[in-house]
Amino acid sequence: MKLLKFGGTSLANGQGIQNAVSIIENKIKNKEKIVVVLSARGETTNKLEALIETAKAKKDYTNSLESFKRYQLEPFKAAYLSEEFEVISQILKGVELTGDYSPKTKDLLLAQGELLATKTVASILNSLGINSTHTDSRAFLKTDDNYGNANLNHSLSKRATGKYFKKQKLRQTPIITGFIASDENNQTTTLGRNGSNYSASLIANFLNIPKIESYTNVSGVYTANPKLVHNAKSIKHINYNEASELASFGASILHSKSISPLVDKKISLQILNTFSPESNGTLISDQKNPTGIKSISIQDDVALMSITGKGLLGKLGVDARIFSSLSSQGINIGIISQGSSERGVSFVIPRSFKTLALRSLKEAFRTEITTGDIQVIKARDSISVITVVGQSIADFSSSLKHLKENKINILLINNTLSGNNISIVLEKKDVKKAVNVIHAQIFGAIKRINIAIIGKGTVGGSLIGQILKARDKIIENKNLNLNIFAIAGSKSLLLDKNGIGKSWKAELEQKQTGKNISQAIIDYADKHHLENLIAIDNTASEEFVDSYNTFIENGFDLISSNKIANTQDYSKYKDLRNNLKRNKKRYLYETNVGAGLPIIDTIKTLHESGENIIKIKGVFSGSLSYLFNSFSDENKVFSYFLKNAIRSGYTEPDPREDLSGNDVARKLLILARELELENEFDDIEIENLIPEQLRAGSTEHFLDNIEETDAHYANIKAKLNKGEVLRYTGELTGDLQQRKGRLRVALNAVAKNSALGNLKGSDSIFEIYTESYDKNPITIIGAGAGAEVTARGVFGDLLRISDKK
Ligand code: ASP
Ligand code: MG
Repeated sequence: MKLLKFGGTSLANGQGIQNAVSIIENKIKNKEKIVVVLSARGETTNKLEALIETAKAKKDYTNSLESFKRYQLEPFKAAYLSEEFEVISQILKGVELTGDYSPKTKDLLLAQGELLATKTVASILNSLGINSTHTDSRAFLKTDDNYGNANLNHSLSKRATGKYFKKQKLRQTPIITGFIASDENNQTTTLGRNGSNYSASLIANFLNIPKIESYTNVSGVYTANPKLVHNAKSIKHINYNEASELASFGASILHSKSISPLVDKKISLQILNTFSPESNGTLISDQKNPTGIKSISIQDDVALMSITGKGLLGKLGVDARIFSSLSSQGINIGIISQGSSERGVSFVIPRSFKTLALRSLKEAFRTEITTGDIQVIKARDSISVITVVGQSIADFSSSLKHLKENKINILLINNTLSGNNISIVLEKKDVKKAVNVIHAQIFGAIKRINIAIIGKGTVGGSLIGQILKARDKIIENKNLNLNIFAIAGSKSLLLDKNGIGKSWKAELEQKQTGKNISQAIIDYADKHHLENLIAIDNTASEEFVDSYNTFIENGFDLISSNKIANTQDYSKYKDLRNNLKRNKKRYLYETNVGAGLPIIDTIKTLHESGENIIKIKGVFSGSLSYLFNSFSDENKVFSYFLKNAIRSGYTEPDPREDLSGNDVARKLLILARELELENEFDDIEIENLIPEQLRAGSTEHFLDNIEETDAHYANIKAKLNKGEVLRYTGELTGDLQQRKGRLRVALNAVAKNSALGNLKGSDSIFEIYTESYDKNPITIIGAGAGAEVTARGVFGDLLRISDKK
């Protein structure tokens, strides 16, 4: 047997009541035995409250009453609701006449909401052929006469409930009113706002029903209000204790009194969403959570009272007087805090009691106010309380820090002794930001990645600029905070654990250092407990490459645009790989070949997926691409284009570094090693493009005699057949199942109408031939050089690693 409870929104006109009815219908068709407890439908209780206030103020309520009735009749016109409508009209008339009402009258009025709901739903079910009876809980739930918030007479109610349902024999599905009960004299009482949950728990307890399904408009208890925190998650399971804590701190779908009837009978309560039947919501049961739960709740309807005065210092009994004066008015004090330095006491009360509290405190401390011992008694509203249930004060410190960083002013802070709960009192306007900051802290919503960037040249500089520019967007879209904590030049090092900003260039200049830079970065990260570490090498030097292993051993992942680590001796190359594996670290270097083009990743993926790569061929150098594309197309001497390339910054400062073919050879070697070939640099056959007589000597000497290249290249061009062009290519062939492949870098004549021959500008091209793509190689073409595109490629590596952190 199950008890189904539906809340107000779940019964509202339209989708709500339709879904609710079909949920009940399905259970019964599945032969489940159920009893049903209902709240008033939609906003009915609030509407009734508004009506009685209007009547009390002797204002015209007829239109509101008419629309109230229309609303009630909308789902089922034939429902017989005139009895309730009559009671409502009578009460309102009386209240209008006297201009006042008693709590007892109000209870009778509000009770009509639940009666209307159960009659309506029972009528609909009966019209669908489902036998159900509208059941008035006033017949068996017995309370005292504390109207508005009546206290249950437990033993009497238990007996009466048992007897009542025994007689009914539950042959028909009972549709029971929540919220309402009756006192000794059979006068109507209510169990307090949201009291239907309590009714449901009580009835389940009295009738030994092991499971309650509570249908609401939310998918259970969340880590925080999902309307305020977009990545709040619903919590699958909580135990009774946790549920009571949450209930008492404002988790509105739980009613604080409704938990205890569940405990002794171990009744489980599943909170479900009427509007999202596929979600499992939250299960409340006696099962312990090994890790405990954490949830953030908000109380909005509070006021902050404070009493300040010199004369309070060291004075005995002040608190006792505050408590007794307020409790005599039925005012419950929430959070209280005493700052001795301020010589004052502050505490939180429900906002509706604000005026009453002020009045009674001023009365209680009249003498002190006259003598000047108390200067101020005041109340502030627009106050909220945020409570983190399930967190100790020690663990809350990082949230506090972040609240401060976010300039959120905390008025009071308090940890409760029962359970691990922290409450902070703050201004209402700060609540959303605060709740998000705390949620991100506790649930690690935003992951911080701590980055050290080594090399501040064109690529390094562009990368820093790109990261700083994209940072906010990436926090928002990917929950990743790319925090640059170190920037290193060859002799300078800038460190800031909170993130280096836009003015890094000027700051870095001030930070000259003679120390071992890699070690200084590692030490700093260690000292400040920085998490998620990544080191990025954008230099072209060997200096940092030697520290790669140290970085890895100290918890860093690596990214480099520097090619050296991948082209050094095979034994060192292998060492680095082994070290990465041992330390479970990653190393990405997509920009080593073809800048930002996805070459390495493609080859790696093909190779790892078992695709047999048989040849890789292409133009790997942007500068040499430009040189031979234009020289082949136009009728000018070779040095003309070479000078152009130098002027446009396509080449290295000494263009012979490009012309030597070493750069292309290095890229080819890197690709070969991706295929697990064990080639060494010396194995590569390289056609050097520098004429013999210009290979030695200074850069100036070369640049001064640059025309000497013309004759050589004019000669080569003259030998081309019609429809052929020159391309400087790298090519990897051979039996790639062997330990080594054949690597060749050479100037070739290729057909103008081939993919290679078609290459434009300074683009690179990579043709990957595999067993399945033999005739039609996978071809990747695009800008394969330039600081900005290379930096973009490094950025891509950074995001790839960060995503996996
Ligand atoms: N109808 C009552 C209220 O709105 C009881 C309930 O909804 O649980 O407070
Ligand atoms: Mg309600």
